[in-house]
Amino acid sequence: MPIYALCDMNSFYVSAELLFRPDLVDKPCIVLSNNDGCAVARNAPAKALGIKMGAPRFEIEEIIQDHGVITFSSNYTLYADISNRVMTTLERLAPSVFIYSIDEAFLDLSGMENLGSLASYGRSVVDTVKREVGIPCCLGISTTKTLAKLANQGAKKYPKTGGVVDLTDPQRQRRLMAITDVGDVWGVGRRIGKRLKALGISTALDLADANPAWIRKHFSVVLERTVRELNGIACIPFDDNPPHKKQIFVSRSFGQRITQLSDMRQAISSYMTKAAENLRNEGMNAGMVTVFLRTNVFNQNQPQYSNNVSRTLMHPSSDTRVLVTVANELLSSIWKRGYAFMKAGVMLSDFYEQSISQQGLFDVAPIDSRSTQLMATLDKINRQKKGQVVFARDGVSQSWQMKRENLSPCYTTRWSDLPKVR
Ligand SMILES: [Mg+2]
Repeated sequence: MPIYALCDMNSFYVSAELLFRPDLVDKPCIVLSNNDGCAVARNAPAKALGIKMGAPRFEIEEIIQDHGVITFSSNYTLYADISNRVMTTLERLAPSVFIYSIDEAFLDLSGMENLGSLASYGRSVVDTVKREVGIPCCLGISTTKTLAKLANQGAKKYPKTGGVVDLTDPQRQRRLMAITDVGDVWGVGRRIGKRLKALGISTALDLADANPAWIRKHFSVVLERTVRELNGIACIPFDDNPPHKKQIFVSRSFGQRITQLSDMRQAISSYMTKAAENLRNEGMNAGMVTVFLRTNVFNQNQPQYSNNVSRTLMHPSSDTRVLVTVANELLSSIWKRGYAFMKAGVMLSDFYEQSISQQGLFDVAPIDSRSTQLMATLDKINRQKKGQVVFARDGVSQSWQMKRENLSPCYTTRWSDLPKVR
């Protein structure tokens, strides 16, 4: 029986900002999205003021003024770097780690249930991440990814759990599902949740007890899979996930260590090709590209090196050629010879709907209208699985200056921004 844990960092963007501003920890703090549009992360004091996730700034302006809410502009470079530190720590603590989003990772703990209490193992993970990186996180453990996600929500919601819930026991699963809104189940969401409720399926338990065949007929194969997962039948493979709505990660541990830049280029190019495909499937353009690589933390006899780098695109894009080019430039900037790399990956984030493609006021070159067509053809070829079409050409892209009035320094990735200790 597989055992999966989901590690989810708490109020991640705000937690990352507060690492360097401990003076603000007890104050209400929020992080605003691009161009300071809306609240995308809130700490507990900010939540207590009634600031909702995704609230547009103009709607909460009064609360911000009246209560002196501290606002940060999104500093994705900082978040990508702190995230990478947490992920590296997790990789040292668990046999296998699958990064799902910038602040979530699944750990494969299969077989570890025989080694002792899963809950106390979970607590040691949470404590180590807090001590070594300074980021608070919660851990949910169960026999399928959907149940692990549910366990994590429980760990977040109920402080008595100390941030860790072992939900491997079927009786416990049913008790938690009975008090969980069906819309909060992973992969259900508000829209389908509404339809389910109209049919009398209002809790996660109701959904677990629904007939899978009936669900497939009236909803989808995807929701049928969710029903099975809620019943402890693992249907989502460990290294594959439904796409995340805010970031796309593609990363793998290499079968053989990579020591040559040319091999690493191939790996990064193919990961980015896959990420771009997923991005187009979601109908999104990405405004930010991140590349990371690391050596094997378990082999302390070899020199260790891990690094990551991010770039904001002037024109958010889903064009494989653009994204592969940027990824390769980023790779060149962090590549070091003389190391045996164990893992590398790419992340796309800062999404914009393709239909609202952002054209700058002073743009010289309009976005190539044939690009969409070319990418559609490419997706078709690659879907046929007769081989992969991969781009790897050079080019230049500039960073796009957004309106980011309250941007924090890049404490961890830029020498000039190192925090000063007085
Ligand atoms: Mg989180």
